[in-house]
Amino acid sequence: MENKSLYDYSFKDVSDLLLDNVDALIIVDPAIDAYKSIIRRGMFESFLKESGIYHDLILDLWFHFNDSNEKVSGDYQIFADNTGVFKGKYSRRLKLYLEDGDKPHLVQLTVYPIENASKYIFSMDEFNDNESLQESLTTKKINTIQNSYLFSMYIDLVEDTTSSINVTEISDDVVNYNLKYSDWRMMIVNMIWPEDQEQFLHRTDPEYLKKNFTPGRTSSYDCMMRNLEGKYIWVKLIFSRAQTYNEDDYRYVFMVQDINDTSMELMSTLQKYEEKAIKDPLTGVFNHGEIEKQLNNAIAYCQKNENPVSIMMLDLDHFKAVNDNYGHSTGDVTLKLFSKILLEFASEKKALIGRWGGEEFVIICHENNGDNTYALAEDLRKRVEAYLFPDICHITCSIGVTELKAGDSFEEAFNRLDKAMYSSKNNGRNKVTLL
Ligand code: GH3
Ligand code: MG
Ligand code: MG
Repeated sequence: MENKSLYDYSFKDVSDLLLDNVDALIIVDPAIDAYKSIIRRGMFESFLKESGIYHDLILDLWFHFNDSNEKVSGDYQIFADNTGVFKGKYSRRLKLYLEDGDKPHLVQLTVYPIENASKYIFSMDEFNDNESLQESLTTKKINTIQNSYLFSMYIDLVEDTTSSINVTEISDDVVNYNLKYSDWRMMIVNMIWPEDQEQFLHRTDPEYLKKNFTPGRTSSYDCMMRNLEGKYIWVKLIFSRAQTYNEDDYRYVFMVQDINDTSMELMSTLQKYEEKAIKDPLTGVFNHGEIEKQLNNAIAYCQKNENPVSIMMLDLDHFKAVNDNYGHSTGDVTLKLFSKILLEFASEKKALIGRWGGEEFVIICHENNGDNTYALAEDLRKRVEAYLFPDICHITCSIGVTELKAGDSFEEAFNRLDKAMYSSKNNGRNKVTLL
């Protein structure tokens, strides 16, 4: 057919062409939470139903089906209801991840509220050229930056309102939001890690905010919060009061920033430092300071509890001869392997073990009386005796054991332990003595 001239097109021609080209056209009645499809083509044949629930459609449209296809965590759905409210014309591009593949479908959505915004017409068109895909990649990059803020919103404590919520994971639009601050707070608290909920309620209390924020002041704190997929992540909650000269103006900006990656990194660094501070670098058991602290704790525990606690002191026999005959580094290797035997024992028995100094070690055995601990020490003594060490082949140790008594001071308990160990030495070494 001949191409028509521009001036030959009638209104009907154009509207027919539009109807031939648009991929989907639906009509929505938000009052009864329903939509009806007028046109469904291409991907929309599976995406849209003949008729369906509007709320479900909004969830499907706005919560980008991330590659994982995981469902959005329930609490976040409160934002969807407000996202699906339109007072005027609205248009945007959406990325939809359908289950048929990992490539996103780029869709232009336009909403026309009709009949005083009591119903809406939705038109949807899929882009399918490379150019639009390129654009989607760029948008993804921008979103990644934006997504470090999970929410941002305005709060007015005087009016008790929240507005302009921006939930970047859900939508990069500013959404007009008509929820009372007091209600909003009670919803958000459910997303907070249970142990942090009390603090959240305290710090979001209107009276607290009024009292603690001078105009322009910003304050933040960190806690764990559920993300869209229902996983708890570390976030920074930031409150900032609007700069104002009116003392009775209590408007705030609230933001939730995703700090999970940096927090996890920081915590693992802290853990490493903490370990360094309490561990003996050569042997990996607790250092003198830490085992002394644990010993003090055990003594304090015995003043208040019935459960028995016993302690052991172990000293390698004739260890100086190892250094003298085989060299210091063989001595070091012997100490390491000796500690390995002790650590194995400690992990089986839930005992605490530390290096008191040189070739002397202390072990704390909770929930073991003197007799039990004597038997454990005998077992340990035999394990050491039987172990095949490099170069030196065999070495033995002398052990002292004592049970902590309710009235014990640190000195009393330690003197008894020391005496028990020396008694093992004096009785020929490679012995256990209970005192
Ligand atoms: P006893 O059976 O009476 O306990 O005799 P001993 O030789 O084990 O006791 P002594 O106290 O005379 O010697 C302990 C030795 O332990 C002396 C010291 O050089 C050595 N020593 C202490 N700390 C280390 C260490 O970290 N590495 C090495 N290689 N040797 C150490
Ligand atoms: Mg020794
Ligand atoms: Mg010694």
